[in-house]
Amino acid sequence: MAASIFFLLWGPWGQFGNVKSEKEYIINYSQFLEQLNSGNIQSVTLTNLQVSGELKIEASLIVSGEKEPRSIKFFQSFLPSFQGENLISSLREKGVAISVVPPEKMSPFWQFITGLLPWVLIIGVWILIMRGAQRVQGGPGGLFSFGASKAKLHDVQKSQVTFKDVAGMENAKKELEETIEFLKNPSRFKRLGAKVPRGVLLVGPPGTGKTLLARAVAGEAGVPFYSISASEFIEMFVGVGASRVRDMFQKAKANPPSIIFIDEIDSVGRTRGAGLGGGHDEREQTLNQLLSELDGFEAHQEVIVIAATNRPDVLDPALLRPGRFDRHVIIDRPGLKDRKAILEVHVKNKTLSDDVDLEKIARGTPGMSGADLENLANEAALTAIRKNKEKIGTDDFEEARDKVLMGTVREESISDLEKRITAYHEAGHALVAHELPGTDPIHKVSIIPRGMAMGMTQLLPEEDRHYYPKTYLMNKLSVALAGRVAEKIIFNDLSTGAQSDLKEASSLAEKMVAQWGMSDKVGPISFGRGEEHPFLGRELALPKRYSEDLAWLMDQEIRKLIVEAEAKAEEVLNANRNILEKLAGELIKTEVLDKEDVERIIRASRS
Ligand code: ADP
Ligand code: MG
Ligand code: ZN
Repeated sequence: MAASIFFLLWGPWGQFGNVKSEKEYIINYSQFLEQLNSGNIQSVTLTNLQVSGELKIEASLIVSGEKEPRSIKFFQSFLPSFQGENLISSLREKGVAISVVPPEKMSPFWQFITGLLPWVLIIGVWILIMRGAQRVQGGPGGLFSFGASKAKLHDVQKSQVTFKDVAGMENAKKELEETIEFLKNPSRFKRLGAKVPRGVLLVGPPGTGKTLLARAVAGEAGVPFYSISASEFIEMFVGVGASRVRDMFQKAKANPPSIIFIDEIDSVGRTRGAGLGGGHDEREQTLNQLLSELDGFEAHQEVIVIAATNRPDVLDPALLRPGRFDRHVIIDRPGLKDRKAILEVHVKNKTLSDDVDLEKIARGTPGMSGADLENLANEAALTAIRKNKEKIGTDDFEEARDKVLMGTVREESISDLEKRITAYHEAGHALVAHELPGTDPIHKVSIIPRGMAMGMTQLLPEEDRHYYPKTYLMNKLSVALAGRVAEKIIFNDLSTGAQSDLKEASSLAEKMVAQWGMSDKVGPISFGRGEEHPFLGRELALPKRYSEDLAWLMDQEIRKLIVEAEAKAEEVLNANRNILEKLAGELIKTEVLDKEDVERIIRASRS
């Protein structure tokens, strides 16, 4: 950008610069032709689209930039396009002396530089390629050391993360205690001839604190900590990954006792042969190197290898064999108690107002990971700042929670009809949830569009549940379908707004039938159908383990459950139509109702 401005400014000046003396004036092309035709031109110098020259006798001409004609001898003019033969022949006809200069006369210095440029480029590219090649050849201590791993050494003093910074996770901590003890006091284990598992695999959904926990182990043990993300092993050049692995293990072994931490190990550790592009790709080579390093420890080497993944299902079985990553520490999403503890960690240096009850907030965040909770605390602080508040209040947490869970508020105009439909839909969910026994209590009903949703009805379980009775699940199905049923009753029509409700209901019913044996006809058998990855919540593509007949029967049973649940919702809403109207009316008025509002409205309509 700057360069082009530079040239724009310099272009014209460069041309004016050719006006050698005051005597050379710029005239227009037709004046030039006139002079040529009248045979008054002595000589010209042609440069690309420019001509300059001398007149035989001074002529009175209008020159560029002046109004009055002036008498000139030397002129300069610009040609409208390259004239080639025509101009040359008419010049010759009139006996004009012609000389030509190349378009740009470059100084010898610049000629030298531009001549050099291609060579510089070629040599530069060559150096880059050679570097890559050297990386491949050069193991540590090899001829070159470009292959040195990127593993970062976290100094003992610097690694300040300890178990105190990791809230909850008591089980995982307990399991790692032994590892820490071994690193702190290896001789004790040796004396008794006990072998401590060298490879520890931390398994859990994203954001649950696996990386944090690994660091804390290093901090607790006070040993050097070499960490690398497995995706960093894989580089453009084949063989780099393998040499990095070798290098990292060598470094760690040179500083025992120490910890090697391989984050996101699934990116190299996938089952071999499963990838595209043939058997011997970069990843496979890296994995083989890793396996051989894991086997290559001598009994006396006090190095622990910790790896983390959220995809244990894709790991190559060879990694999980005894002697490699044979100790698995499962890190699940935090329960109520842990969520509260994690929140406490993340509000430590924030100012909260006195009414904030972390327990209540923890109760309202089932399913959130540690990273989500950290995000929640931060969003709450940002909300408070936006409102110019000194302290973070309960309402800030509430807003942050809605934002984290449902996305930001969509500012858009909604037609009155759409608003009405949404209000009845949500009122339907809320009313059925309130009426059916044993369902989760209502937390909030809102018709403010957020993220993808036009409205929402939030239910909150009183505590983390571990078992779900069939009656509870059936009622949950009814609640999920109630929005659609309300639309049907009031508007005698259906809308697309219920799509996600239907999806939720269908997958729940499928699990009830195919996994939890809740259909008498299908019987107490658990099929792979509808199974989700425990950490990813994504469905697995498993081979079918049942006949077409059974598949058909399951379809029938799933449908039956849903129809049954829908009928129940319809019954409840029809019996309480006046309350449905009241709730929807209030929602249209205020857009948000909390638990107390809903209860008050229902009580008032009953008395
Ligand atoms: P993972 O490696 O499992 O994806 P991280 O260790 O990167 O998760 O966790 C992300 C962030 O979430 C951490 O930096 C930390 O701030 C927060 N966090 C997660 N779990 C906890 C916990 N148990 N206690 C405190 N903070 C946590
Ligand atoms: Mg991580
Ligand atoms: Zn709905």
